[in-house]
Amino acid sequence: MVIKIDHIGIAVRTLEQASPLFEKLLGEKPFKSEEVHSEGVNVSFFRCGETKIELLESSMPGSTLEKFLVRKGEGVHHIAFETDNIKEEMARMKEAGFSLLHEEPRIGADNKLVCFIHPKSAGGLLVEICQERDKQN
Ligand code: ZN
Repeated sequence: MVIKIDHIGIAVRTLEQASPLFEKLLGEKPFKSEEVHSEGVNVSFFRCGETKIELLESSMPGSTLEKFLVRKGEGVHHIAFETDNIKEEMARMKEAGFSLLHEEPRIGADNKLVCFIHPKSAGGLLVEICQERDKQN
């Protein structure tokens, strides 16, 4: 089951340049920054009530995010829905005709298990589904 929007991912050229803008916008500093090796990105998270804003910069030449920035420039990159059971949700979405970018949940940022859905099957939107790793069933 989808519980809520966990975060909105925003592609930026550099965290150094983008962070001050979001600090001004949200009135707070990011509460977490980390590198996600598997995706070739550095991320910073800002709290926004129940939801978060995730800024992503490429940490690796040739990363998917770098290609996104070349194609589309900075801006909204993905929307992440939190689920209470990622495997069940992946099966449900596959059954419903969405194409998943991987068969098994991966370890993502912010202590989450994640799976991405191809934008071609989701109306042009890159969708992430995620689950807290310590709430894993
Ligand atoms: Zn994300």
